[in-house]
Amino acid sequence: MSATSEDLHTDLPTGSLVADYDGVICDLDGVVYRGPAAVPGAVDTLNEVVAEGVGLVFATNNASRPPEEVAEHLRELGVDGSGWSVVTSSQSAAAYLAQRLQPGAPVLAVGGPGVAQALAEAGLVPVRVSELADTPVEAMVQGLGVDVTWRELAEVGYLAQRGVTWVATNLDLFLPTAHGPAPGNGALVAAVRTTTTRTPHVTGKPGAALFELARTRLGTSRARTLVCGDRLDTDIAGANAARLDSLFVLSGASSLQDLAFAAGHERPTYVASDLTGLLAPAVNSS
Ligand SMILES: [Mg+2]
Repeated sequence: MSATSEDLHTDLPTGSLVADYDGVICDLDGVVYRGPAAVPGAVDTLNEVVAEGVGLVFATNNASRPPEEVAEHLRELGVDGSGWSVVTSSQSAAAYLAQRLQPGAPVLAVGGPGVAQALAEAGLVPVRVSELADTPVEAMVQGLGVDVTWRELAEVGYLAQRGVTWVATNLDLFLPTAHGPAPGNGALVAAVRTTTTRTPHVTGKPGAALFELARTRLGTSRARTLVCGDRLDTDIAGANAARLDSLFVLSGASSLQDLAFAAGHERPTYVASDLTGLLAPAVNSS
């Protein structure tokens, strides 16, 4: 693209925060939606940002759903049809292994359909626990899935103890549901860890890998990429790990009080009540 960023963003409100960036990496739960409903103002803001030529990638630690399913949910909430994409921690796990294994290497896939799909798209062969007897694996990916079984968790532990590469998509201890908090992937990883001295490599937030994958897709420089998120301990810590600026929004899990007590690695660049802060003058967090 030959146009400069100034050319692209001319219709954004004067002095708006997002005008200083070419790409936005946006968290979902607590930022774009809360449960089934959109956060007020979030969808309109994102549509305006994309219409002005700012790149947009949604980055989620939730490994269970394939990206197309997440995208469909976003379109239902009113996010315009194109100009953005979704990356998941399953994809960052698959990318991590694809850099280290030969194409076609067999990898145990534990979790929802998003885990196996991401492995296949990265050129690896997902192996189910029922196929392990016939297909020895070179690595394994453990992500969240509502149908994960005791046998799968046990196999991850056996293989980890034998030295097979163990990748966890994320370590979120719980996830919000309509009925209240439920065990997240971190809780299931913790269950396996009671049986082995090994620890998994983690590719989701607060690590840098998921945001690095998102920035690769945006094709933007580090200095002109902004992360938006509602959790200081995952989104903002991940942005700092990836050395990206961040906007902390108060529409989700963390509060201003959390910000006041946050350690250095969890401190954002900017703070706003919600995503509409992208179109307002920047408010520095310190
Ligand atoms: Mg969130």
